Amino acid sequence: MLRKNMRFTKKALAIELSKIKGFLKPKVELEQYQTDSEIASVLLWDAYMRNDITQKIVADLGAGTGILGIGALLLGAKKVIFVEKDNDAITVLKQNIAEYNYKNYKIENLDIDKFTRKVDTIIMNPPFGVQKKYADRKFLEIAFKVGNKIYSFHKLETKKFIEKFCSEHNFEIIGIIPIRFGLKKHYNFHTKKIKNINIGLFIMEKK
Ligand code: SAH
Repeated sequence: MLRKNMRFTKKALAIELSKIKGFLKPKVELEQYQTDSEIASVLLWDAYMRNDITQKIVADLGAGTGILGIGALLLGAKKVIFVEKDNDAITVLKQNIAEYNYKNYKIENLDIDKFTRKVDTIIMNPPFGVQKKYADRKFLEIAFKVGNKIYSFHKLETKKFIEKFCSEHNFEIIGIIPIRFGLKKHYNFHTKKIKNINIGLFIMEKK
């Protein structure tokens, strides 16, 4: 059990997050990949340094087993709302969160479509739309509706599209941090053991 007011370094955060349990049986159609703890820390630390976590209302869209939202709680978020439609993921998320004694969170067992609450900051690692075309668009659309600042991973090659999509929704990209992202082989259709794709942490802000 961690003390509530304990200060983290980025490295300590990554180590703490490496304890988070992932999906028991990841579902291909929902593009369930747990974010690696080092990569989750890149997002969380950047958001934290930009003052978008501590004392903020944060929504974790497609929360999965909770690594991003739990990280936000560790960094002093005022409240974290986990939005996830898959019950199996939520079972693990509840186990993960039970390791801490936070009360300032809510789990919304919903399709993100149904999520309407306005928040300060959105954190998410959405489906990249590999299985279901435009799955990432839907995540961005909801994020634009409910958030002021968005921290999200996308394939770098979609940068042009995201720029355009942002400007159509009165948002702008204020930073991109490129990350080499090794997808471990979870599913049979991946031929190599590790498939490297170039992703970026996209930071977007309402104009
Ligand atoms: N945020 C987690 C999980 C990322 S995988 C992490 O970073 O580890 C993407 C997650 O989005 C999966 O848990 C999947 O079940 C969820 N998801 C996909 N489509 C969704 C939708 N329409 N509504 C809610 N959750 C969705």
